[in-house]
Amino acid sequence: MAELTTYKNYVAGAWRESAGGTFEVRSPGDGSPVYRAQRSTVDDARAAIAAAREAFESTEWRDDAGARATALSKFSAAAQEHHEELATLLTRESGKPYRISRDEALRLSETTGYFAGLTRWIFGRSQIPQPNSISLILREPIGVVAIIVPWNAPLALLARALAPALAAGNAVVVKPASYTAGSTVELGKILEGIPEVPKGIVNIVTGPGDPVGAELARHADVDMVAFTGDTTTGREIMRLAAGNLKKVSLELGGKSPTIVFADANLERAIRGAINAASFYNAGQVCIAGTRVLVEASVHDAFVEQIKEVVPKMKVGPGWEKGVEVGPVISEAQLQKVTGYIEQGKREAVLVTGGHRLTDGALAKGYFIAPTVFDRMRPDAKIAREEIFGPVMGITTFQDLDEAIHIANDSVYGLVAGVWTRDINKAMRIATRVRAGSVWINTFGKMFQSTEMGGFKQSGLGRQYGLEGLFEYTELKHVNIQLEK
Ligand code: NDP
Repeated sequence: MAELTTYKNYVAGAWRESAGGTFEVRSPGDGSPVYRAQRSTVDDARAAIAAAREAFESTEWRDDAGARATALSKFSAAAQEHHEELATLLTRESGKPYRISRDEALRLSETTGYFAGLTRWIFGRSQIPQPNSISLILREPIGVVAIIVPWNAPLALLARALAPALAAGNAVVVKPASYTAGSTVELGKILEGIPEVPKGIVNIVTGPGDPVGAELARHADVDMVAFTGDTTTGREIMRLAAGNLKKVSLELGGKSPTIVFADANLERAIRGAINAASFYNAGQVCIAGTRVLVEASVHDAFVEQIKEVVPKMKVGPGWEKGVEVGPVISEAQLQKVTGYIEQGKREAVLVTGGHRLTDGALAKGYFIAPTVFDRMRPDAKIAREEIFGPVMGITTFQDLDEAIHIANDSVYGLVAGVWTRDINKAMRIATRVRAGSVWINTFGKMFQSTEMGGFKQSGLGRQYGLEGLFEYTELKHVNIQLEK
């Protein structure tokens, strides 16, 4: 048997082992070992922060927009060239369907390419506030940015923070999720081959959220932490960041509504609700539209269709052909999701699924049958808490006002979808529902050039687009007094 790869940390342009030893990552698709990575310690996190600080202060990276544009363009091209290897690794480490991994690896390339083009678009302003006085409003990099990402879409979620942070001239320390550390460390190999990126501008340390991520969030020499993950962890990050009042960008959980009106193209709405929302990536998607709100008059037709389609979805490890729903990431996630399913059986009516799948080879992985509950009350636990698994809940509503009320009855506010042929209803939903993105007759469309982020407890700050770039900058006022 081939020896398992052991990934090292990438710090100050060199590959380093941790005194903390290593940990093994096994595939959730069949339990097989995939690689080992460093179980870093607080000292490793501190060394990475010191390397980033040194590179930020001592190189011309922060001032050389041309070099940054070239570096990010090369990074984008290399990610495109290696997208199949990256996707294969992603599918091994996360179990997700290869098609999704491939899209994600390509998205990494597209996002870095997009921000490569924006490196020369970091403009400030100027003004003459009084006679003989000129003010410059400069937009500068923040300094050392820590980026902490989850496992559900490790490359796409890393790219939307890493690319703008670098485009703006910062130095970064990346802490990937432990389940998917390998695909991120592979990016270090790409960066190592790009001479325009000074050593220490990008550092990657693997290992447990606490202490490695916690040290990055706490450390006084880190100027900003960009975190994507669970809302509870986000709160902890904010608390740790308060020590030196560092800037915090948070992309957190969701419990998003998909609202289907009776006048919608029902076939498209059903497909949208199924594919784009609850079962894509086995429901392990922050934007999953897991609360499906259906107008009462089309409820029965909607549920009949769901019963037809969902049980036929192919479940299996992502490397098998035709798989639509992969495993959940871990034993812990399996326990969490099946716990919610048992809760759902007490709170709502089970339409399909509702159990772990263990037939044949599936017994080796963490597979759950795509599950749908009907008659889910808005105050049910499964309607209020993020499940992060292949579970959809259906609730009926009578009119527009009730739909808006139920949609907003959540601590989260990440995204929403609405299906209707009436532009007035669609725009009422779009303007009244408190969410960072609203899709009309579609779901999940995210572009590098359009901002996304959360209202309420779904987050702070915006990713993508110009605002997503400016997140990684500070404004500075410089005033010049002219002699008469
Ligand atoms: P976690 O919050 O558990 O972990 C996210 C990252 O934080 C991991 O790298 C983890 O490391 C690290 N971490 C864990 N504890 C700490 C700590 N105390 N201090 C610093 N870092 C820590 O989230 P999950 O990985 O479980 O991801 C799922 C969550 O992410 C869901 O709630 C989902 O909604 C949300 N999410 C939000 C998105 C958005 O755009 N809003 C996008 C995608 C996901 P380790 O892996 O070692 O534990």
